[in-house]
Amino acid sequence: MSNTLYNEIINEHNLRPYHKQAPAESDLKLEGVNPSCGDVITLYLKTDGDVITDGGYEGDGCAISQASADIMLDMIIGKSKDEALHLSDLFMRMIKEGISEEEKDELMEAGILESVSHMPARVKCAVLGWRTMREMLGA
Ligand code: ZN
Repeated sequence: MSNTLYNEIINEHNLRPYHKQAPAESDLKLEGVNPSCGDVITLYLKTDGDVITDGGYEGDGCAISQASADIMLDMIIGKSKDEALHLSDLFMRMIKEGISEEEKDELMEAGILESVSHMPARVKCAVLGWRTMREMLGA
């Protein structure tokens, strides 16, 4: 993964986020904070039984924290809660200890954030959205 592509994807999600707004309806709402960088996100999910049918976020903070939340929502809307938690497990493991190429394929665009594992100061930024989602789903 080249640095240029990494930067392009992070920039794109900051300039034109797909999910940076509260959805019209939501039944779950939780704020996540990363004090070490000053990142804040409020995550909203709408669920129907076991399926995440819609979602969005509001927030403020560095480019990595906001892009990572936007990419996460792209991946989890339409998935079951269990699938969303599985993706978050993979994401956390990718950042903390590394995962196989096949596992990285499952993470699709979120796989570009693997390079954050070499930037210890940014790890909390990258995991903020995922960590908030896990807490929201009670995992
Ligand atoms: Zn940050």
